[in-house]
Amino acid sequence: MKNFLYRFFQGRYGAYGTDRLTKCSLVVAVILLVLSFTSPLGILYYVAVVMLFYSYFRLFSKNIPARYRENEIFVKFTDKFLDFFRNFKDTWTQNKAFHIYKCPNCSQKIRVPRGKGRIEIRCPKCGNTFLKKS
Ligand SMILES: [Zn+2]
Repeated sequence: MKNFLYRFFQGRYGAYGTDRLTKCSLVVAVILLVLSFTSPLGILYYVAVVMLFYSYFRLFSKNIPARYRENEIFVKFTDKFLDFFRNFKDTWTQNKAFHIYKCPNCSQKIRVPRGKGRIEIRCPKCGNTFLKKS
């Protein structure tokens, strides 16, 4: 059986394991399938089946460069999306410890630690100084 599977996957895209696009479409297919049991929207079931077929089509495909390119596009797109959330989290944790002020002269963003009282801030870009509560 193992030998059969090995031979079957030889030269196919799935031989290199599942990529992010295949994994993602499988997960979405399963979620949609579960949702379709409780939802009155019958279309969810068909979308799930199509996604499932698409995942298997990718795994069994012999056109490896094409599948590889599709995954590259998908990874690029999802990375942009994930970066947005990572940046959001970073800003959130920074906001707890720091104040971000804008220089009134050149609008350079300046990070100042919180809880130091009224302080004079010197802009590192243009040298302008201004008073702010930290
Ligand atoms: Zn400035």
